[in-house]
Amino acid sequence: MRAAAVTDGSPADRTLARCLLGAAAVGAALAAAAALYGPAPLAAQADPSSRASNQPVEPFRILGNLYYVGASDIACFLIATDRGLILLDGGFKETAPQIRDNVARLGFKIADVRLLLNSHAHFDHAGGLAQLKAWSGARLLASPGDAPLLAAGGPDFPPVRADRLLRDGEAVTLGSTTLVAHLTPGHTPGCTTWTMRAAEGGKTYDVVLVCSTTVLPSYRLTDRPTYPGIAADYAHSFAVLAALPCDVFLGSHASFYDGAEKARRLRAGERPNPFVDPQGYRRYVARAEAAYRERLAAESAGTPVSTPRQPPPRR
Ligand SMILES: [Zn+2]
Repeated sequence: MRAAAVTDGSPADRTLARCLLGAAAVGAALAAAAALYGPAPLAAQADPSSRASNQPVEPFRILGNLYYVGASDIACFLIATDRGLILLDGGFKETAPQIRDNVARLGFKIADVRLLLNSHAHFDHAGGLAQLKAWSGARLLASPGDAPLLAAGGPDFPPVRADRLLRDGEAVTLGSTTLVAHLTPGHTPGCTTWTMRAAEGGKTYDVVLVCSTTVLPSYRLTDRPTYPGIAADYAHSFAVLAALPCDVFLGSHASFYDGAEKARRLRAGERPNPFVDPQGYRRYVARAEAAYRERLAAESAGTPVSTPRQPPPRR
């Protein structure tokens, strides 16, 4: 089954199936966690890299009606419209209270969230959705590829049912804001990249909220693939991402788009807004595609990929 194939089953898979980039430091942290905790079930927050990516941070307005309400690396975005709020991603289940509090700190109410969206159904981005849905009463829209994973849930991942399935290219409108769902499968079968337009200072910007293009160390692309068609899905997704107009580059992990550093620069008053970074987006897509092609080549050469070895697709 496709859905079962990418569910984070074993503790090792669950650790690896986090969406972090395969940086050496992360690999070392994962190895350390595995050594520390052995085969016992890992709570989402039991390993050092999960804790590190889930540190509380100050919420802030990114640009226009788009706000950051996530944790240090686990991103969550709030879009404020004249008809209520949209929340993209729910973090770990432990991130949900942070998200709720961040929404309140910005002067909004979690009960005003009308729509819940998800980049992809991994437990570090969807683990908090069930709780956020319960608090807000919002409707959850999900891709057909990932909705079964959301409904299944898992350890550290309370199941959550989508109220409606999305079509590729579908426009989702609340009040004055429209987001478009672009299916960019590979990282998960229904990985969804969202785009919207945001206005600030008399200009309108194209915003891209990337799902993830990371090929996890545990994935296989061609020989005994993680799910049938995964290699073609990644190739398709890189073409989709390359064709998207992008001024403001965001994604499901702040590390994808250098979010912490851009937030620091924004707080320091830098203008133009440092989140306007079309070149950074192009670099991310190019590097991610190169890492994917490297993995394809390694598989055809029979080179084992047992540890995270992709350079982070940033810079
Ligand atoms: Zn992921």
